Amino acid sequence: MIKQKDERTEQMRELVYVGRRTLEWRDAADPTIQGDRQAVVRPIASTTCDLDHYIIAGHTPFRPPFAIGHECVAEVVDVGDAVATVTRGDVVVVPWKPSCGDCAYCLAGLTASCEAYGMAGAYGVPLGADLGGLFSDLVLVPFADAMLVVVPDALDPIAVASASDNLTDAYINVHKGLDRHPGARVLVWGGVGSLGLYAVDQALAAGAMSVEYIDANPARRARAASLGAAVHETYDDGFLMQFPVVVCATLKPEEFRRSFEALKPGGHLSSLSIFFEDKPAPFWEMYMRDITFSTGRPSSRPHIPHVLDLCLQGALHPEKVVSKVIPWEEAPAGLVEPSLKPVVARQPLYSSRRLQGVGA
Ligand SMILES: [Zn+2]
Ligand SMILES: [Zn+2]
Repeated sequence: MIKQKDERTEQMRELVYVGRRTLEWRDAADPTIQGDRQAVVRPIASTTCDLDHYIIAGHTPFRPPFAIGHECVAEVVDVGDAVATVTRGDVVVVPWKPSCGDCAYCLAGLTASCEAYGMAGAYGVPLGADLGGLFSDLVLVPFADAMLVVVPDALDPIAVASASDNLTDAYINVHKGLDRHPGARVLVWGGVGSLGLYAVDQALAAGAMSVEYIDANPARRARAASLGAAVHETYDDGFLMQFPVVVCATLKPEEFRRSFEALKPGGHLSSLSIFFEDKPAPFWEMYMRDITFSTGRPSSRPHIPHVLDLCLQGALHPEKVVSKVIPWEEAPAGLVEPSLKPVVARQPLYSSRRLQGVGA
């Protein structure tokens, strides 16, 4: 058991998804440094990816049990001899996927496809190597310098806990459209959870002329409005061919299809949703209007520094998406209760930073 400086004495546990709407802490072996590029980190602000809500509800192909969680800010506990960019006590974003920094995919910026732990391997999902989850007491980071991004002191770890994945995924997908159509009007179709809201924030930060947001959920609409979007409960027939950029974060096939109708000729549609099965797409309309479509697991790591910079500048407002802060020990019950973007938090042991709104 790691017990440096005598601060950490508890038994290492993982938060394990054991079945539909059931999570539990389970004892596990402490991760230990076995290679000089590795680090051990202690999550201090972990949050749910939108996918996790579907996992917890039993609506994915992933079969229990497995350690859940792949979005967190953590403090560094220990580092291997070759690690140069972080040291004990640094507060860092841990990307959802281990990436080595050296392979052809990493060098091309495609860290989501790094093959070091199998292309599918990621924290918190039972794919590829078992890497554990980011709601665990301690986490092994296989390539510390390539993966970890230091969180500046001025940023609240609770607000940026989603930089590992969803917050940065929205940045990537908004830019796929807006880089081709700078200053465009943007339509965001929400639905899966936080992703649509982050897309609103990212689009306005990226210079969109305006953002329209569709979502049947009134609580999410209110948050979208507070981020600066004009909000709509349902699709408006007046949206037909009005938008150069559409960002789609809905899983409903009919809404997905209608998202294409809103595109102007030459427009771009980014899908933030995870479809586990093939879905029909309106190829005739896409052909006639020269539409481009993008989807993909986000290669977050290269973009996380830009996202943190935007937060520092006050251009992004991820704190407005946080729905509640759950004390670390209460994670199993707290995360089963439906909530948009709950953050499980605890005070650091190795950093002098203090998290606001979290008990001693
Ligand atoms: Zn995710
Ligand atoms: Zn790699």
